Amino acid sequence: MKDGGKKSLAVLGATGSIGRSVLDIAGRYPDQYDIAVLAAHHNAEALAELALRHRPRHVVLTGSDAFPLLQSRLSGTHIRLHQGETSLLSCLDEDIDLTVNGISGIAGLLPSLRVLENGGTLAIANKESLVAAGTLIKETCRLHNGVILPTDSEHNAIFQVWRDRHVKAIKHIVLTASGGPFLSTPIEDFPHITAEQALRHPRWSMGPKISIDSATMMNKGLEIIEACVLFDLPEHQVEVRVHPQSVIHGMITYSDGSTVAQLGPADMRVPLSYVLAWPDRLPWLEDSEDTDDHPVLDFSQLDFLPLDAVRFPSVELARQAWRQGGLAPCIMNAANEVAVSAFLQHRIGFMDIIASIEHALSVMSVGSEISLESVLDANDKAMAVTRSWIAKKGK
Ligand code: NDP
Ligand code: MG
Repeated sequence: MKDGGKKSLAVLGATGSIGRSVLDIAGRYPDQYDIAVLAAHHNAEALAELALRHRPRHVVLTGSDAFPLLQSRLSGTHIRLHQGETSLLSCLDEDIDLTVNGISGIAGLLPSLRVLENGGTLAIANKESLVAAGTLIKETCRLHNGVILPTDSEHNAIFQVWRDRHVKAIKHIVLTASGGPFLSTPIEDFPHITAEQALRHPRWSMGPKISIDSATMMNKGLEIIEACVLFDLPEHQVEVRVHPQSVIHGMITYSDGSTVAQLGPADMRVPLSYVLAWPDRLPWLEDSEDTDDHPVLDFSQLDFLPLDAVRFPSVELARQAWRQGGLAPCIMNAANEVAVSAFLQHRIGFMDIIASIEHALSVMSVGSEISLESVLDANDKAMAVTRSWIAKKGK
C-alpha cells in the first residue's frame, strides 16, 4: 500500500454493473482508495465519464473502434490512455493492491492470470474464467503466491463464513438461487420467452449476459463449478436451493449439525465492499445517508425449494461437464456465451441456448490436458461450432 496508506485499485469492466458498484463504494472513500486503472471494452463515453469522476492514472479501452472518442473526451487531463488487450495486461503490471475483475465472459481470463502471475490480489466476479480454466487459475495463484477473493455473491457468502480449520468437517455448502424470472412460468411457454422478458430479473440488477444466465439458470450451473474451483470441493458437496427472496446467499453445513449462513440485501455492493476492505470491513452502509442504500431485510417468509431439473436442465448439464472434466466446462462455457449473445440478438429461442451447449459438448472432444493454449483453443473451437449450429438453424 502506498499514497499515505491508500489501497490502489484496478477496476476491469468498469462500465458494467460490477464495475460501477465497485466505484460507487470506493468513490465514497477517496482517503482509502486510489484508482490506478479503469478498463472497459468499447463504451468510451461511459469510461471517460468514470475517468473524469475517479481520476485514475491509467484508462484502457480493449475494443478498437471508440478509442478516438476516449482520447477526445479525456484530452487535457493527465490520465494515460491505452488501447487493446495487451495494453490492459501491461497496466496490470503496475503497483496495484487489488484488482476487481468485472469483465463479462471468457475475456476475463488473461487479465485474471496476469494479476495472479504478479502475485497480486484478485477479487474475481468474472465466473466464466473460473469455469473455463479453474485449475489453471488456482495453480497460477499457488505458484506466484497470489490471493483470490471470491466475489460472486454466493461464493462471497461462503468465503465470509469459511474457517480453514473446519474444512474437514464440511458436509456440504449451499448456494442459493432466486430462480430467476421464470420460476413459475408454465413450461409450455418457455419456447416463446423473449430476450426482453428474460432480462427482467426479479431481484438483482445485473448486466445482460448474467441476466440471461440467471433466466436459464445456467448461472447456477456455472456457480457450482466456480464453487468447486474456489473452495476445492467435490461437486456432490455443492448443493443448490431455490430461495426466491434472495436474503440468504450461501451456507455451510458441518457434520456436527451446525449450518452457518451469510445474509444480506440483494445488492452486489455488499460482497464488493467486503472484498474492497478485506480482511477488514467498510462501514459504507452506516456512513450512507442515501435511503436507497438501506434496505430492510424481510425475514417474514424465507422459502427453500428444490431445483426443478426438468424446467432448468442447465444445472445438471453443468454438473455433468464438471464431472466429465478436461475441457468440458470450457466448451460448455464458450457455447453458452455464443448462444446467449444470439438469444439477445433474437437469432435463437430461449430453449435453443441449452440445445446449443448440448450440441457443442456432443461434437467436441474434451481432452484432458488443461493449459492456457488448450483452453483458448477449445474455447475458440466451441464458439465456432456453436456459431455454425446457430447459423444452420436460422436457415
Ligand atoms: P456487464 O455486462 O454489466 O459489464 C461487463 C463489463 O465488461 C463492461 O465494462 C464491458 O465493457 C466489459 N467487457 C465486455 N467485454 C469485454 C472484453 N472482451 N474485454 C474487456 N472488457 C470487456 O456485466 P456484469 O457487471 O453484470 O458482470 C461482469 C462479470 O461479473 C460477469 O462474469 C458476471 O457473471 C459476474 N457477476 C456479475 C454480477 C452482477 O450483479 N452483475 C454478480 C455476480 C457475478 P463495455 O461496457 O465497454 O462493453
Ligand atoms: Mg451469483
